[in-house]
Amino acid sequence: MRAMVTGAAGFLGSHLVDALLAEGHHVVGVDNLLTGTKANLAHLASSAKFEFVEKDITTPFDVGKVDYVFNLASPASPVDYMVHGVETLMVGSYGTREALEIAKRYNAGFLHTSTSECYGDPLVHPQPETYWGNVNPIGPRSVYDEAKRFSEALIMAYHRYYGADTHMVRIFNTYGPRLQIRDGRVISNFLSQALRGEDITIYGDGSQTRSFCYVSDQVDGIMRLSRSNEHLPVNIGNPQEFTMVACAQEILNLTGSSSKITFQALPQDDPKQRKPDITRATELLGWSPKIDLREGLALTLPWFREHVELRDPATSSKA
Ligand code: UDP
Repeated sequence: MRAMVTGAAGFLGSHLVDALLAEGHHVVGVDNLLTGTKANLAHLASSAKFEFVEKDITTPFDVGKVDYVFNLASPASPVDYMVHGVETLMVGSYGTREALEIAKRYNAGFLHTSTSECYGDPLVHPQPETYWGNVNPIGPRSVYDEAKRFSEALIMAYHRYYGADTHMVRIFNTYGPRLQIRDGRVISNFLSQALRGEDITIYGDGSQTRSFCYVSDQVDGIMRLSRSNEHLPVNIGNPQEFTMVACAQEILNLTGSSSKITFQALPQDDPKQRKPDITRATELLGWSPKIDLREGLALTLPWFREHVELRDPATSSKA
């Protein structure tokens, strides 16, 4: 098949492109490089089956006939989407519409990457797909949360009114090689800080929880969902739940770093807990994560070692 991946130059997009190419498909990657980078696709430069189109997807475009649209385009880390708030709302509304229009035009399958942020600061734990969420519609995170929730509504409308073959994954925190070193996320920050010997910055008291999914598990879930007949959202994430203090400790143990843990102010509307209920993914897709946090961090560490700028080489040899 010929597949289009929007957000192809991002962390997850580039891994999805790799998985599609590995299955023998042709891939058109589209990205405006707002938060993605061509470096994530550099290894595909000589691939005859991969094309790259530099394009902001919020205005109409056409890459020719495609059999499948994977819509991943959006800033995704809290730091990035708060810097690019309006762009995030635009890509989650106009951008999703343009991607849906392409799927409709060519009668192509469509998969959208939604988010656990749809659940906001959840009052139900763990979060099943049936939970409607606890979202502040005007808070600092709303640029992302409401863009993603609008996308979901628009996709359901294309499915209901036009019979589009749509799929939606609600992605929980995912990490691995090619994460932006400076995206401000917890795994990126803690790994970089540990390798540089800098203080580990826990926001709040560190009792808030997240559940971290290794990127190969996430891509496997996305591929399975894309081939399924399921049109309602499906959570894909690793249900093993960690406090941020425990996460910091895992990273200190892994790196052997002597960084100190420090506590800083908790950002506004930072969810207190997050853990996917993956019953639907398991029953519908036969999916469950294979890689736990310790193993996934060990698989991620070489990328950070290679890309973190070490301020003091003496520190790096210790870390
Ligand atoms: N966090 C932290 N220190 C950091 C970066 C993040 O304690 O240097 C916390 C953040 O406050 C949140 C959790 O880690 O509670 C996950 O944050 P992240 O930005 O990775 O993603 P989120 O799940 O909030 O979208």
